[in-house]
Amino acid sequence: MNAIRHFEKNPVNAIILDQQDPLKEFRKKFYIPIRNNTEVIYFCGNSLGLQPKITSSKIDHELKKWAQKGVDGHFNEDPWVSHHHKGKTAMAHLVGAKTHEVVAMNNLTTNLHLLLASFYQPKGTRKKMIIEKGAFPSDYFAVTSHMKQKGISPEDHLIEISPDENGYFSTEKICHSILTTGDALALVMLPGIQYYSGQFLDLKSITHAAHKVGAYAGFDLAHAVGNIPMTLHEDQVDFSAWCSYKYLNSGPGNVSGVFIHEKHGNNPDFPRLAGWWGQNETIRFKMENDFDPIPGIDGWMLSNANIISSVAHLASLDIFEKANIQELRKKSILLTGYLEYLLVNNEAIKPHINILTPKNESERGCQLSLYFYDQGRLAFDHLTKNGVVLDWREPNVIRVAPVPLYNSFEEVEKFVILLGQVFD
Ligand SMILES: *Cc1c(COP(=O)(O)O)cnc(C)c1O
Repeated sequence: MNAIRHFEKNPVNAIILDQQDPLKEFRKKFYIPIRNNTEVIYFCGNSLGLQPKITSSKIDHELKKWAQKGVDGHFNEDPWVSHHHKGKTAMAHLVGAKTHEVVAMNNLTTNLHLLLASFYQPKGTRKKMIIEKGAFPSDYFAVTSHMKQKGISPEDHLIEISPDENGYFSTEKICHSILTTGDALALVMLPGIQYYSGQFLDLKSITHAAHKVGAYAGFDLAHAVGNIPMTLHEDQVDFSAWCSYKYLNSGPGNVSGVFIHEKHGNNPDFPRLAGWWGQNETIRFKMENDFDPIPGIDGWMLSNANIISSVAHLASLDIFEKANIQELRKKSILLTGYLEYLLVNNEAIKPHINILTPKNESERGCQLSLYFYDQGRLAFDHLTKNGVVLDWREPNVIRVAPVPLYNSFEEVEKFVILLGQVFD
């Protein structure tokens, strides 16, 4: 289905689209921020997702347990020691993994470091890494610091793939770069969805190309998870990590998710930075020094879970289980397609913007990145003043992310009307 063509053939208004939306009740599960006594139009879920109303009671429950039981909370009913098992099914659904391939722990950048410690193992002339030009700084810092720590110069060994003038990365170009680097390539680390342009990369083809030359392929899914369904296990992706506070709505700075394919995860000798929480659970509390890692991703855990914040993650994952990522994706295609349809058919707006995000629905999630030829800052300020929450990126880009869990077609329509006022 191509949503924009669908709307061109069957013009409908937002009210009807909202009435027909099978997921419309999910909005009520979230607090929508208020400005001037009115709910804002929140199109910033790509940066910080909204708070589910259930979250505070889940946190309260654990606080009460701690108050009433103290240390016994670790081992009593619903014990904290096994807390990390609880989100696995939902996370596995979101990224297309087996449950023993995913776990929530630490924060995103920390996990990137752990994953690089495992998967960046330069040997002989195989030292190079591939990332994208304009990568999120934390990812760039993580990758280059691992190189430097091993005495490998990023100037000579880091390959940054450039996008075209619209910020687009062609799969052919990426794969070509991988194949020509050949056995000098150790690792490809790319985004699932590129944060600036909103492009969803072809994880499967990239992974396949990396494996062809004997390299690993890993992805930062910060902007992809909870936004677009994936099939990491089937695609043979080696590793991934993501944060849970963007589309996953688990609260500012909350825990990160990690994936390691079972073909590596089940290998007890796979290199890693280890901690006691990754130790075989039957002997963990014997406190001995022989490391026998839990099979699967759990063997990479370092520490006992931060319960107070992790329950906020579980509260949000529950909502995703109820809504179902495949259903969310169906709505998302329509919602973002509707936004694109209204923008490209608006005579006032059209000459002023270039949509950087790919037109092809299979190459994007919910976000559209609008490049303004002129008056971008003016447009941003007008929208902000009128209760739209958006995200500005230098030099001239507004990222607009209508989220299928809590945004409506009517909000999309209002947004386009407000933007049109800038150019009238
Ligand atoms: C949001 C984001 C981060 C943030 O990292 P934290 O460790 O959670 O602060 C890192 N990388 C990418 C690509 C992101 O989108």
